[in-house]
Amino acid sequence: MLKTPYYLVDKSKLLQNLEKIAYVREHSGAKSLLALKCFATWSVFDLMSQYMDGTTSSSLYEVKLGYQKFGGETHAYSVAYADDEIDEVIATSDKIIFNTINQLERFDSQSANAIRGLRVNPLVSTSEFIIADPARPYSRLGEWDPARIETALDKISGFMFHNNCENADFDRFDEMLTLIENKFGHLIEKMSWISLGGGIHFTGEGYPLDKFCARLKLFSERFGVQVYLEPGEAAITKSTTLEVTVLDTLYNGKHLAIVDSSIEAHMLDLLIYREDARMSPCEGEHRFQICGKSCLAGDIFGEFNFDKPLVAGDRISIEDAGGYTMVKKNWFNGVKMPSIAVKQLDGSVELVREFGYEDFVGNLS
Ligand SMILES: *Cc1c(COP(=O)(O)O)cnc(C)c1O
Repeated sequence: MLKTPYYLVDKSKLLQNLEKIAYVREHSGAKSLLALKCFATWSVFDLMSQYMDGTTSSSLYEVKLGYQKFGGETHAYSVAYADDEIDEVIATSDKIIFNTINQLERFDSQSANAIRGLRVNPLVSTSEFIIADPARPYSRLGEWDPARIETALDKISGFMFHNNCENADFDRFDEMLTLIENKFGHLIEKMSWISLGGGIHFTGEGYPLDKFCARLKLFSERFGVQVYLEPGEAAITKSTTLEVTVLDTLYNGKHLAIVDSSIEAHMLDLLIYREDARMSPCEGEHRFQICGKSCLAGDIFGEFNFDKPLVAGDRISIEDAGGYTMVKKNWFNGVKMPSIAVKQLDGSVELVREFGYEDFVGNLS
C-alpha cells in the first residue's frame, strides 16, 4: 500500500469523461482543449491526448507545459503578457488569445505572423461566487464593447468567450449562447474560430449531450466557425481521490479525526468556496468531523458518517479531488505534500511523483 497522503488519478474513471468529450467532437465538430489551470497532471496526458485536441493555458509556463507534454493544438491565453514572455509564448503555441485590445496592439509586431484572437466578455455568466465570476462588475476579463472590438478585427481571426462556471444546466448555456449571438453575431461571422471556454459540465451524469452537440453545430454552421471548448473540471471530474490516513482522534462535543493532509494546502478551493469535501455516501451511525493537520482552525474537510468509530491508522478516501487541487497545492505549515499516483487502465497503481523535504526547501530561499 502506498504511503499517504496521495492523490490517486484513476484512468478508467478519467476515460468516462474523455469518451464523452470525444463524442461531442464527433457529433458537433467542436474541438476540446484541456484547461491546464484546472488540471496539469502530465502523467496522464498520454491518455487524455488521445481524446482531446490539445490544451489551453493561462500563462507562459502553462503554455510550455501543454506544448511539451500534451501536444496537439496549443492555445495561449493570459490576462496579461509581460514583454519578456511574449516571444516564447508565440514560439510554443498555435494561437495566441489576448485579453485586451491594448495587449494586442502592444505585441502587434511580435505576433503579426501568429494566429491571434481576443477574449470577449459578454457580461453574463453562471457563477454563484463573485470571486469566480468573469462577468463581475468592472471585470478585467476581456473586451465587452462590440464597437471597440470591431476596430481590432483586421488583426484577429477568433474570439474566446469564457462565461460558464460549473454550469450543469444546458438551457442556461443555450440561453447565454443566444445572448452572445445576438450581441456579437455580426462580429463572430467575420471570424474563423470561436472558443466557448470552460465551465460547461457536459460530462456530468444526465447532461443532454445530443442537444448540446446540436446547439454547438448550429452555432458553428450559422457563423462558419470552428468551435473550441476548454473543459477543465468537466474533463477530469470524479477521476481523482485524495487518500489520507487518520493520525489522531478526539472528542470535543463532536467526534473529530485529524488526517495527514490539509484543505488549505491540498484542496484549497474547499476553503475559498466554503464547501465540504466529498466522500462516498455511508449510512453508518458514527459521525466524525474530518480535520486537516495544519494549524488553521478552519482546516476542516467536513462531517461524514462511518460504519465504525475512526481510529488512528484508518484510511479515508476523499472523492472528486482532481480539479483545482494539485495545481494549487502549497507548502503551508510544511505539511507533507501528497504524492501523485495513477491507477492505470489494467488496475495497477503506479506512484508517479513523491515530494519531500528537499522540495519544501527548494521552494524557498
Ligand atoms: C477556468 C477557465 C477554463 C476552465 O474552466 P472549468 O470550469 O474548469 O471548465 C477554461 N477557459 C478559461 C479561459 C478559463 O479561465
